[in-house]
Amino acid sequence: MKSLWRESEARGLDDLGLLVYRSRLIGREPKLCVWGGGNTSTKGYATDFRGRRRQVVFVKGSGSDLKTSQRRDYPALLLDDVLPALTFSAMTDEEMVDYLAHCTLDPKAPRPSIEALLHAFVPEKDIDHTHADAILALTNTTRPRRIARRVFGSELLYIPYLKPGFLLAKKVAQEYRAHPGAKGALLVNHGLITWGPNARASYERTIDLVTRAERFIARHLRGRKVLGGPRLQSLSPARRTAWLFENLPHLRRAVSRRQKKVLTFTTSPKILSYVNSRLAPQASGAGAATPDHMLRTKRVPLFLPPAAGARQIARAVERYAEAHRRYYERFHSPGQAMLDPAPRVVLVPGVGMIAAGKDLAEARMVAEIYDHAMDVQIGACAVDRYRSLPLPKAFEMEYWSLELYKLSLAPPDHELARQVALVTGAAGGIGQAIARKLAAEGAQVVLTDLARERVRAIAREINQAVKAERAVGMAMDVTSPASVERCVRDTVLAFGGLDYLVSNAGTAHVAAVDELDLKDWEASFKVNATGHFLVAREVVRVLKQQATGGSLVFVASKNVLAPGKEFGAYSAAKSAETQLARILAIEGGEFGIRANIVHPDGVFEGSGLWKRIKAARAVSHGIRPRELERHYQQRNLMKVRVEAQDVAEAVFFLLSRRSAKTTGCMVTVDGGLREAFPR
Ligand code: ZN
Repeated sequence: MKSLWRESEARGLDDLGLLVYRSRLIGREPKLCVWGGGNTSTKGYATDFRGRRRQVVFVKGSGSDLKTSQRRDYPALLLDDVLPALTFSAMTDEEMVDYLAHCTLDPKAPRPSIEALLHAFVPEKDIDHTHADAILALTNTTRPRRIARRVFGSELLYIPYLKPGFLLAKKVAQEYRAHPGAKGALLVNHGLITWGPNARASYERTIDLVTRAERFIARHLRGRKVLGGPRLQSLSPARRTAWLFENLPHLRRAVSRRQKKVLTFTTSPKILSYVNSRLAPQASGAGAATPDHMLRTKRVPLFLPPAAGARQIARAVERYAEAHRRYYERFHSPGQAMLDPAPRVVLVPGVGMIAAGKDLAEARMVAEIYDHAMDVQIGACAVDRYRSLPLPKAFEMEYWSLELYKLSLAPPDHELARQVALVTGAAGGIGQAIARKLAAEGAQVVLTDLARERVRAIAREINQAVKAERAVGMAMDVTSPASVERCVRDTVLAFGGLDYLVSNAGTAHVAAVDELDLKDWEASFKVNATGHFLVAREVVRVLKQQATGGSLVFVASKNVLAPGKEFGAYSAAKSAETQLARILAIEGGEFGIRANIVHPDGVFEGSGLWKRIKAARAVSHGIRPRELERHYQQRNLMKVRVEAQDVAEAVFFLLSRRSAKTTGCMVTVDGGLREAFPR
């Protein structure tokens, strides 16, 4: 591991600036800590509300990530007030949180890390605490003390496992006093602490100590089979994809019992050698590498039997949840509610790793953390045997309110969070507005259209707007069964399943029936009727397999209820689409699959369809093309312009739980047209 310190970047920074700088360097190296793990501090001076210069320790606040941290993420604690706590003999977690709140210079600052006391009690200027993979590999073994001695001699304090908080902080402070000259402390089953007289010294000590641990592990790995060598082979990429497409929806249902999840699949040569190995089932079952991982991955992953099918998956998840229930029953204290008992990490021999989260970002975070957990187990098994915390200690951490507090800082779920939506015709005005709305409401959205680059660009714009990775663009031709199949399959592979379909792709042609070419009639039916059939067929297959219900919304047209002249090819095909939606409502009811229809009138903004037919429609109405928009506005009861956003609102309502008991229904979005009243 290399030091990323650049004197040119650090020059001129004040104490807090240097702390932020080095914290970001640590955060940039995922082998040191992942996703919100680890914390850092520096001691210095700050001015209080009365203008007095006070001695403080700036320590990372709860809920921020080192990699992206900023000055405001480091509350200042008044050392005069914190240090007397060192003389206390005990302090409950609640007392500690309360005490630290009173020591905080700015009462509005974020809550200091649960390891803040430790940073305050050790009288070194700069302190870094990480959960480095290599350190965890050495200390999650059956003889951590002996191994630590071999690697670090007596340079580090050796601290047997203690729950983070007052007692751990006090223990480290006592050991520090007893062994002056120590460069840091090794926290068994937890991580590493280093310190130094300045920011660079502390940071580079972390790098140096972790590098030594890495080299020690590398020497033991050399010429050795990873985790006892393979017990089985990987599936070919084609069979792997087939397995995933077939089974991800089953797995999604199984892990979504309490709350729906999005799944992400990851594989790599390392992951495959791990899941295929002899020792991984046993090692992974021993528990998490550090308390911080457990919060995201749970104590253990679920190891599926090789080539598991739907029934085996359901049984395996049920057994896992049952084991969690027993673990909860055994160790919980009154008033402690059981967490979601479903696994977050599912390991599939021959295939790879599947992680679950409330959205793609969280699922990926879980996957990344477990990827590091694999490295820890591989390292530990190379130098000795992997061992983690005993069950009661693990439970104490997994259900620790102060750690759960970190999770509570996340914003509440959006209304469509945890749902996956597929939108066709997403490059057009209405499709785009729908995709934006669904993403803004928290859904993972797959935008599809003929023009791949266009939908990808829109998806990127959406992600920037919602500041999350919620949208992806995929090319799909709704008239091609192969293209539709591929797109639905890729959606399942990307998110583990599917919940919503917005069947919106359409085309239009203007001509009186006696002048209509057969090919134009057929072209309209191909997109406006058959296209909806092909997409719905494929989506409903997945919904039935997943068996968690679903919602389909068909964007049809005002013309279904009130057709206009010279619009036969369009209106007749749109009527077929409407009838198809009703049939789907009838067939889907018993499976909890709803199907509803939206009938918009003349939405011009961003519409490719209207660009093509505007002139011809104006002729049909006996007006000039530039008068057309006004004509549509004037003909409705409310004299309003119907916009894509209005259609998106109706679609959102029909997809969401707000219309949970509505199916086979038509909703008009037309400003009120008497002849188009549904009846
Ligand atoms: Zn820690």
